[in-house]
Amino acid sequence: MKKVYIETYGCRMNLCDSEIILGILSGHGYGYTGVLADADCVILNGCSVREIGHTKVFERIAELEKTLASHVILIIAGCVSTQLDDSFFAAYPRVQLVIHSTAYKHIFEAIGALARNQSTHLIVTGDNNDEIYDRQLPLRLLEDNVTAAVTIMKGCDFYCSYCIEPYTRGGRTNRSYEGIMAEIADIRDKGYREITLFGHIVDLWEGEHDGGPKNFAQLLSDIAEACPEQRIKFISSHPLTFTDQMADVMARHKNIMRVAHLPVQSGSNEVLRRMNRKYTAAQFVERIYAIKEIVPDINIVTDIMVGFPGEKEKDFEATLKLLDTIRLTDINVFKFSMRKGTPTHKKYSDDVPPYVKEERRRKVYSLVEKIRNEAARNLVGTTQRVVAESRYKESRWWSGRDMCHRTIYFVPKQGMAIGEQCDIVVRGVEDGKLYGELCL
Ligand code: SF4
Repeated sequence: MKKVYIETYGCRMNLCDSEIILGILSGHGYGYTGVLADADCVILNGCSVREIGHTKVFERIAELEKTLASHVILIIAGCVSTQLDDSFFAAYPRVQLVIHSTAYKHIFEAIGALARNQSTHLIVTGDNNDEIYDRQLPLRLLEDNVTAAVTIMKGCDFYCSYCIEPYTRGGRTNRSYEGIMAEIADIRDKGYREITLFGHIVDLWEGEHDGGPKNFAQLLSDIAEACPEQRIKFISSHPLTFTDQMADVMARHKNIMRVAHLPVQSGSNEVLRRMNRKYTAAQFVERIYAIKEIVPDINIVTDIMVGFPGEKEKDFEATLKLLDTIRLTDINVFKFSMRKGTPTHKKYSDDVPPYVKEERRRKVYSLVEKIRNEAARNLVGTTQRVVAESRYKESRWWSGRDMCHRTIYFVPKQGMAIGEQCDIVVRGVEDGKLYGELCL
């Protein structure tokens, strides 16, 4: 049996794509291997959203050029591939196949053509930019039956000025209701504990069923009802599109996790305008309060980008003020990195010095850490339903996630398995980490 090895860079969307590629190849008799030396094909599924992800893929190609056996076919996939043309092969001749994310259904034929020496190098582009692999079941890389991700839509029409996604992934394409529900049933029947619905802005998903329209809130409700034993979460949302109807569905279904990802990026209206985010800081705050009114225990996760071109000290102060107002405890902080091909690249220069970006990143972290520690202390004494996720070598502690996606550390009971659900009483907080005790 031929074997394929795959490395995935970047976001969860790329991991979903890797699982789709493996699903397609396994349908043609390929097996998956986690050992590079056993592979007949090596795929680097690369992300181009951040400069660092892009660079990592090229560094990895350079390493593999020196070490891969000559019979192995080296393939570049993912959104990074859409930026490559024939001149790429002159610089990296060891790569034989570049395949766009809309063309994975042709990957088996392309590998065959290369193996039969019909071509030495190939670029395969999709025949349909809206390709979303509606009926293709993935081969899941996570074998522990804890979480499974389902792509429900791809692409984005928001055109934030710093983001390359609308150019590499195209506009929004929705997967069909039937395609999603078929995959959901497969995951449920295989006994996965948690399901993540995935897309650039899941709130905007639209479909049809039984001759009538369906929106994302209705889809979410149908999935929660179809999978009463699973925990459901979704990522990502947008401050302009997260509806009250979605929050109502969350409040109604106890198996929908109390977590939502709503990136704000900045607290400065001027920076938000230049980012083309289409909302103001006040509108974001209003939305957060409205959602919390309906789902009081929700954990809203946000992203902050520091050092966007032209970000002045007063802009950054506005971001700190916003964070202090909304007091979210789960924040991803990114330092701005310029992506070629974006409107920001055409209009602005990367004028905030690296040391200023780093200082601002640290300031956001220390504020959030303070807020998180305060919030964590309020959880001491409460009981949380946790799914065990990880065990650590040479330590008696395991970690799991509660319904708000917070990590809690605990000592398992004899014979406990990863993926098992249990109740944990939070006993203490150390360095912002929650420690608890299993309820027996
Ligand atoms: S909402 Fe903005 S940042 Fe997010 S994928 Fe769309 S364009 Fe990119």
